[in-house]
Parts: sequence; C-alpha cells; structure tokens
Amino acid sequence: MPRTLVTGGAGFLGSHLCEYLLKKGHEVIAMDNLLTGNIANIEHLQSEQFKFIKYDVTQYIYIAGEIDYVLHFASPASPLDYLQLPIQTLKVGALGTHKALGLALSKKATFLLASTSEIYGDPLIHPQHEDYWGHVNPVGPRGVYDEAKRFAEAITMAYHRYHHVDTKIVRIFNTYGPRMRPNDGRAIPTFVPQALKNEPITVFGDGSQTRSFCYVDDLVEGIYRLLVSDINDPVNIGNPQEMTIKQMAETVIRLTDSKSNIVFQDLPEDDPKIRQPDITRAKKLLDWEPKVDFEEGLSKTIAWFKTLDTGNYA
Ligand code: UDP
Repeated sequence: MPRTLVTGGAGFLGSHLCEYLLKKGHEVIAMDNLLTGNIANIEHLQSEQFKFIKYDVTQYIYIAGEIDYVLHFASPASPLDYLQLPIQTLKVGALGTHKALGLALSKKATFLLASTSEIYGDPLIHPQHEDYWGHVNPVGPRGVYDEAKRFAEAITMAYHRYHHVDTKIVRIFNTYGPRMRPNDGRAIPTFVPQALKNEPITVFGDGSQTRSFCYVDDLVEGIYRLLVSDINDPVNIGNPQEMTIKQMAETVIRLTDSKSNIVFQDLPEDDPKIRQPDITRAKKLLDWEPKVDFEEGLSKTIAWFKTLDTGNYA
C-alpha cells in the first residue's frame, strides 16, 4: 500500500485528493495548519488508512516511516485570501515547498507541486500553453501568490535536476465544486450563496473578463494521472470551456431559479482579463481531458451549497 502525504489536506482540493487517494488504496496523511483549510472537509475520511496532523509546513517536517508520494497543496489560494495573508502565502510557497521537497528527498518519494495558472499572470497569449513564461506583476497585490508559486516551480525543478527527485508540477486552472469556502472571495462560492439568498450578484468590472472552470473530480483525476506518470515537465490541468464572468453569473442565477440581479463593482488590481488552458499536453501524455460539463458540475456544487451550515465557515 503506497503511503502518501498531502499538505493542505484539509483544504478544498487537498480534501478531494485525500479522498481519491484513499479510494486508490493509499494510506494517506493529511497535514494542514487550518489557516484556510477546514477539518469539516475531512471528517468523513477518518479510518485506519487516514491520519490528520495539524502542522505548519513552513517548519521542518518530520514523519516516521516510509513515504512514497508527497503532494504539496498547502497555500491560501483565493485572491482575497492571499491579499489578507500575504506573508503566509509567500512562506508556504517558498519555505513550505522547500520543506516538502526536503522530505521527498529524504524518503526517496515522488513529489507533486500544486502550481497554478496564476504563474502566467495577465497573459499575453491565449490560450495558455506550458511553454509560455507568463506576464506577472511581481509587486502587485497578486504578486505574493504568483511569485511564490513561480519560486516553488523553480525549486522543484532544482531538486529534480540537482537531487534527481522524481518531481511533477501541475498548473491548476480555476476549479470549483463542493467544499469551496463560501467566504473565500472567489467567484463561484460567492455567487452561489448570493443567488440562493436572492441577494445581488457582485460581478467585478463589466464582467467581460473570462475564466475557464474545471469541476473538481476532473481535476483530481488529471492530477492522479500526472502523479503516476513519468513526466517531470509542468502540465496544465483545467477545462478549456471559457466564459465571461457575467455569463457565469447568469448561469448561476438560472440554475438556482434565483431572483437576484447583477451589480457591478470595481475590478481588483491586476485581475487577469482572459484565461483558458491549452490542455494539448495533458491530452497527449496523460490521455486526460475533462468530462464534466459546466452546468452539470455547477448543479452538483449548488446542491452542496444548499446543504451547508454556513455558520461552520464563518
Ligand atoms: N469575481 C467577481 N465577483 C466576485 C468574485 C470574483 O466578479 O465576487 C471575478 C474576479 O474579478 C475574476 C473572476 O471573477 O475576474 C474570477 O475570480 P476568482 O476570485 O474566482 O479567481 P481568479 O481567477 O481571479 O483567481
């Protein structure tokens, strides 16, 4: 049975990954300092094969026994979170990645870094393929996340080239699904509760900026295929189905049968105008492509938000 560490294991993506890996027969250790993660995300996973350790991975990580895989998913990940937690975001991307790589080296484990489409910044080419170097403002408010992840990619490649660690880098594009935090400030977990309460939907700017949203189950499947592959170059995982944020808000209103109207608010600084993954590499090398259509995934997400006691997340 492979033994696997997931940092950020109590977060949105981390918890879905833990669940998937348990189903694949792994013994899983989830590590999280619960800064933006939530223990409620992993309560249902408790078993002999699953262990949770509350820990800040910017500190030296000690784990007894063998580890086969290290998946580094710890980080604040929404623009609002990393605006409010700039130093922690930089530390977990830089120091945390260093510690997680050090653990992988000492255990001779395969290492997978959760990177992001944010490393492309406000892109000048469209769609974004892995060979594009990006267009990032290092000193803007999003720089703390973008540059931490760019450093994380660089140190991951250094451990691969210098220490010969088997490393993987997944560049994750906008992902949605159950267990997103309603107050994390991202578009979908903001719009769905607003629509369910018939409150105004807060679209930033004129809503013409685009994003391409991937359902979490598709994402996790792609990450797993990358983990067990022999690929060391970065791979985009995301859904190329691109839409404007206004279109997305209208879809949320329609699927929730809401009486909400759309209100337009100021666009945050450095908000990327367009984003769409080029997934040619994932298709070719991993035989992966997303299967869940946006309305299907959004319906499942809405159903989950309806069951939520938002008090847990305040
Ligand atoms: N957005 C919005 N209203 C909100 C939250 C976000 O219009 O209440 C916009 C945001 O400006 C961006 C897009 O939705 O253009 C996606 O934002 P999100 O925070 O989900 O992720 P990002 O792709 O910017 O990291």
